[in-house]
This record gives sequence, structure tokens and C-alpha cells, in this order.
Amino acid sequence: MSPSDYKLSIPKEFFNSETKEPFRTCMMCNQSLAEKQYMVEKAIKNYPSLGTKEIIFEYAMCLECAGKMHLELSEESRNRIGDYMKTHLEGKTHLPVEGKPDLNKLLNQCIVKESDVSQSAEYSIYAMCNGTDMTINDFPYALSGEVQDEIMQLLSAKSLDILDDFIGNHFTGPPEVREILRRRPVLI
Ligand SMILES: [Zn+2]
Repeated sequence: MSPSDYKLSIPKEFFNSETKEPFRTCMMCNQSLAEKQYMVEKAIKNYPSLGTKEIIFEYAMCLECAGKMHLELSEESRNRIGDYMKTHLEGKTHLPVEGKPDLNKLLNQCIVKESDVSQSAEYSIYAMCNGTDMTINDFPYALSGEVQDEIMQLLSAKSLDILDDFIGNHFTGPPEVREILRRRPVLI
């Protein structure tokens, strides 16, 4: 955390949509998030012809679990993802010089392609939280489905197998979310 990090109360966009409150437990280790740093992802599908969208899945994962998952990847896969992020995100700053961050823009524009996510078939929004606060630094952001696919292409088949085992062994949430995660694991 750098001193310039902002904190905000977690906005409703990142609430558990069942409880209408912030997430309380990590979906991997099932431990309380009250005193932990964790990330939240919501994956959203657009239905342009209907003018609607729907949450496909959502979860909170503590940074310990996310870090463990990341370390399961081969060094080569990790380097490729790191290079991709560096190439596409370097020099892009989230924080305005003064005033509050524009959450609306952060959650509606793909951070990599700078495209309007409502034009993508699917996209995700991500936040970094600490207890009931959301931290504003590299997070929150939105990634279009196209970029998520590009990132998945960077992973070796071996890394994907290892992640699949890891999720199979540790995941405590609903089976339908586990199946989605196997196709698109959490990458930080
Ligand atoms: Zn955890």
C-alpha cells in the first residue's frame, strides 16, 4: 500500500448480490474476511438486444489464497502475464491528480483496451478490499472478455492443469462457480 492509496466504503457494485452486503468469507479457504485483504470479482454477461446484463458469477478471495494460486503457475506463465500487464498498463494511472476517482469510468471501461465494456459479450470488474473498505490503487478495474481470453492464451497447458487441480482441491464454493473458475482462473 502506498501512502497515496485511497479508501472508500465498498460500493454496492462489489457487494454479494445475495446478501446485498460486502462478502464475508473467502471462497477458497472459507475464512472470515473481516480482518483480511481480499479481492472481489464479478463476471457479467451483456445482452445487447435486450439492453440488459446479468452477473454470471461473483466471489471474494483472500490475498493469501490468490497468492498461492498464482504461485501454482509455472514461472514462464507468470512472466508472460507480468509482461502482458506491464506492456498494457504501464503509464496508466488510476488516481486523478485531485478529487475522487471516477468509479463509473473505472468500472465501465476495459483497463487494457480502453473500450466500453458494455460492447463486449462478457466482462469482469475487480476490486481490492480490506474488511469493509475498498482500496483504490491499481484496483478497481474492468477487463473485457477479449482481454481475459488473451491472458488465458498466455498460460501453458501445464499451468492450466495445475490450476485445475488446485481449484479442485481447495475450492469451497458452489460447483457451477468451480467449473467457471477452471476455465478462467483468478490471476493477479
Ligand atoms: Zn482464502
